[in-house]
Amino acid sequence: TIGMVALDANGNLSGACTTSGMAYKLHGRVGDSPIIGAGLYVDNEVGAATSTGVGEEVIRVVGSFLVVELMRQGYSPHEACKEAVTRIVKKNRERAKGLQVGFLAINKKGEHGAYCLQKGFNYAVLSEKENNVLIDGKHYF
Ligand code: ASP
Repeated sequence: TIGMVALDANGNLSGACTTSGMAYKLHGRVGDSPIIGAGLYVDNEVGAATSTGVGEEVIRVVGSFLVVELMRQGYSPHEACKEAVTRIVKKNRERAKGLQVGFLAINKKGEHGAYCLQKGFNYAVLSEKENNVLIDGKHYF
């Protein structure tokens, strides 16, 4: 999945995502990316989030909506992404090490963060302060 979240000069949030889905997927499978709230969610009052990885697991926790709701409760983007990943780990105790799921989020202040299950999840930031900076997303394992 390629997911993007943005805050424009007027303070409006937006987001987008696209995916090729999973390898060897069943014909007709619908992943998280086309489901608003799962692969992508934007609330212009709070923040925006998007996900990548095993879509079925993201759908089960309505992941991007969860991340935005946690930010509404005061979590930072990073902490919200971490909590969503942690919930997925709790639901998959015995097989979590074999899964990959990651979230990326931004809030109304332009603070951003990410978190994923496995190492190797980076995201790029373009802003007045950060010119295409590549950030190493924190990870669970
Ligand atoms: N999230 C996508 C899906 O489950 C896979 C990906 O990360 O590209 O369809």
